[in-house]
Amino acid sequence: MTYDPSNIFAKIIAGEIPSHKVFEDDTALVMMDIFPQSRGHTLVIPKAQSRNLLDADPAALSAVMPLVQRVAKALMQTTKAGGIRLAQFNEAPAGQTVFHLHFHLIPAFEGVAMGAHASGRADDAELAQLAKKIASNL
Ligand code: AMP
Repeated sequence: MTYDPSNIFAKIIAGEIPSHKVFEDDTALVMMDIFPQSRGHTLVIPKAQSRNLLDADPAALSAVMPLVQRVAKALMQTTKAGGIRLAQFNEAPAGQTVFHLHFHLIPAFEGVAMGAHASGRADDAELAQLAKKIASNL
């Protein structure tokens, strides 16, 4: 399986498609998932080109994990979640739909069932507000 540079996350990283951005530096972009499984569902996307975990450069993986942790903590603080799920899918049979490596951070709330993967689209105004709040807690 090879990396296809026309995937939607590559276009977002290139600034060709808008996103509700939480954070960006030379190595990664953090944005709100527009089909969230819970309030605050966020994606951490390394900029280096790889389809997923299987073809990623180990150096890129170790570089991104501290950011994943930082965003997880900011999400706990922002959403007042009781917990957080870290998810990452590799190839279509495993549920991957966008073929550029990314990590899902999905806040979990006691007694509230998580939504289905990549289903209902969230309100843009709410996502914009959440992105700002999470960024301020990073
Ligand atoms: P995966 O199934 O792990 O490849 O996840 C892809 C995720 O990207 C899903 O949770 C989608 O809801 C999300 N997604 C797809 N398109 C966009 C987009 N334009 N902006 C933000 N999130 C997106």
